[in-house]
Amino acid sequence: MIRKNTKTVKIGNVAIGGGNPVLVQSMLNTKTTDVEACVRQINELKAAGCQIVRFTVMDMDSVKAVYRIREAVDMPLVADIHFDYRIAIECANAGIDKIRINPGNIGGEDRVKAVVAACRQHNIPIRIGVNGGSLEKEILAKYGSPTADACVESASRHIEMLEKYDYDNIVVSVKSSDVSVMTAAYRKLSEIYPYPLHLGVTEAGTERMGIIKSAVGIGSLLLDGIGDTIRVSLTADPVREVEAGYDILKAVGLYKKGVEIISCPTCGRTSIDLISLAKRVEQALSGVKKPLKVAVMGCVVNGPGEAREADIGIAGGKGEGLIFKHGEIIKKVPENELFDALISEIERM
Ligand code: SF4
Repeated sequence: MIRKNTKTVKIGNVAIGGGNPVLVQSMLNTKTTDVEACVRQINELKAAGCQIVRFTVMDMDSVKAVYRIREAVDMPLVADIHFDYRIAIECANAGIDKIRINPGNIGGEDRVKAVVAACRQHNIPIRIGVNGGSLEKEILAKYGSPTADACVESASRHIEMLEKYDYDNIVVSVKSSDVSVMTAAYRKLSEIYPYPLHLGVTEAGTERMGIIKSAVGIGSLLLDGIGDTIRVSLTADPVREVEAGYDILKAVGLYKKGVEIISCPTCGRTSIDLISLAKRVEQALSGVKKPLKVAVMGCVVNGPGEAREADIGIAGGKGEGLIFKHGEIIKKVPENELFDALISEIERM
C-alpha cells in the first residue's frame, strides 16, 4: 500500500504523518475532574494498546485536573476544547500534547493568535476537528445539508486561520456519522492539504453497527493510503474502541503483530463444533504478539487447501483432525486433542 505523504506531527513522544505507523487513539468517558478514574481508564486503554488518549476539558476545574493527570501518566494526551480559548492556553501550560479546538469558534483574531502563541511556545499541534453535525450556520445554509464539500469548506476556514499566523503544526479531521460523506470529505481534504488526518466516523453507534461503519469508513480510506491516526467511536467501553481500531488496521494490512485467525464459515461438510473451537483458539492466542496466521477449518477435504496462506492450521474431521502448515499436512490427531496439539505446535514456532 502506498500511503499519502503527509507532514510529520509530534504528539508527545509519538509522531503521526510522514510515513509513521497509523496510531490508534480513544477518548475517556470519565469525568475529567475525577483524576483517579481518568488515570485508571488511561492505564486500561494503554494496556489495550491505545497510543493517544483524548479527554474533554470543559472548565477551569478540569484544567486543574489536567496537571494531575499529566503527572500521573506518560501517555500522549489530547485536550478536547470547545469555544473557550483560555482553556486551550491553560492546557498548553499544563503539559498537554495536542489540543483539539476549532479556531473559528473561539471568537476573534486575538484569541486565535493567543492560542497559536501558546501552542507554538510548547510545540504542540492543534487538531481542527470538523463534525458534520455542528457545521457553521452559513456553511450549512450554503450547502443545504452537511455534505462532504460543506465539511471540507469548514475545515479549510479553520486551517486558513492557523496558516495566517504561520502555524502549520496541524492535524485535521472531518467526521460525519454518514460513512459516504465522511469518506468523500477526507478524500477531498487529502488532495488539498499536507496535514496528517485523524480518521473517524462520528456518533457511529453501538458496538456492532459502530464497528461496521468505522471499518467501512476508516478502512476504505486507509486502503487508499489516507489517514495517519484513527479513532473508532463507539457507544461502548473505550477499550473496545482500541481493540476495534487494531482489528481495522489488521484487516487492511497496516498492523502485522499478533494472530490473525482464518476460519471457514462451516457448511454441510463440517463434522466438528467449529464455531466453539475457533473462538477457543482465538481466545487462547489473543496474547501472542508474533505475527501468525492460524487457520481453523471445518473439514479435512478442503480445509488445508483453502487455508494455504495460513502459517499453521487445523482441520476437523470425523473423530480425528489434521494439523497443517502452509497447506501441507504435518500431523493427524484425535479430534479431542486437536486444540492442545495446535497450541503446542504454535508454542514451538
Ligand atoms: Fe465447508 Fe470444509 Fe470449506 Fe469449511 S473448509 S466451508 S467445512 S468445505
